[in-house]
Amino acid sequence: MFQRVAYDNCPLCTHEEVDVVGTFPCRQHALWRPTLPDTMRWLSCTRCGHVFVDGHFDDEALAVLFAGANAHQLPGLADLDRGRMLSAHIIERVVRLRGRAGGRWLDVGFGNGTLVTTAVEYGFTAVGVDVREAAVAQLRAEGYEAHCATLETFQSKDAFDVVSLCDVLEHMPFPRLALTRAKALLAPGGTLLVTAPNLDCHQWKALDRAGKNPYWSELEHLHNFGRARLETLLVELGFAPAWYSVSERYLAGMEVYATLVS
Ligand SMILES: [Zn+2]
Repeated sequence: MFQRVAYDNCPLCTHEEVDVVGTFPCRQHALWRPTLPDTMRWLSCTRCGHVFVDGHFDDEALAVLFAGANAHQLPGLADLDRGRMLSAHIIERVVRLRGRAGGRWLDVGFGNGTLVTTAVEYGFTAVGVDVREAAVAQLRAEGYEAHCATLETFQSKDAFDVVSLCDVLEHMPFPRLALTRAKALLAPGGTLLVTAPNLDCHQWKALDRAGKNPYWSELEHLHNFGRARLETLLVELGFAPAWYSVSERYLAGMEVYATLVS
């Protein structure tokens, strides 16, 4: 039986005092296996309000979790049309914000690959990074630049004008470190895009009231961000929030766009 590696303190602000939000069952999750814990205990930091699971998985437990990786996350024909449409909306927001298309775009955790392929269609030089070798091989075979790496291990001699983290930050054990790494890859004035579920929105609260909020049982997530805390974190790291939009990708999702200012 795998146990979570407990957080010593808030992964965003290092404060040690927490409230317990609640404990939720996760046996029904598609990736749950009997060697993984069957509940998730969520905490909230009493200083900054950040909401997170009481611990993250080590590499061994993650291997079990990813052994049943979702087929829909591989590049392929399934949902290609929908993925292209969703990506187009994101890319058009970035173009509007930056005043032009083009430049270097890094998509971290590229999933089905449609943000990379659609960004190229719009005139960006797009690069995808993902930890799944099969997904990387497939995107490369289709003629796109893709690397098998994590945000921590990925290296580039040239900076990027846009870095996107679409539904990946809530999976990362230490989001502050991840965003610091994203910042290091960005050119001055570069655009950061983070998408994640938004616990500040009405839909989230309505799902809670109905007892039907799937995110408390989402085995792959470690954090439940709200727009306010995410934007404050970005400001702490030298970004200026520049645009907000509802995410069409997932339930109760948000898109936060920020400009690197310092
Ligand atoms: Zn905190």
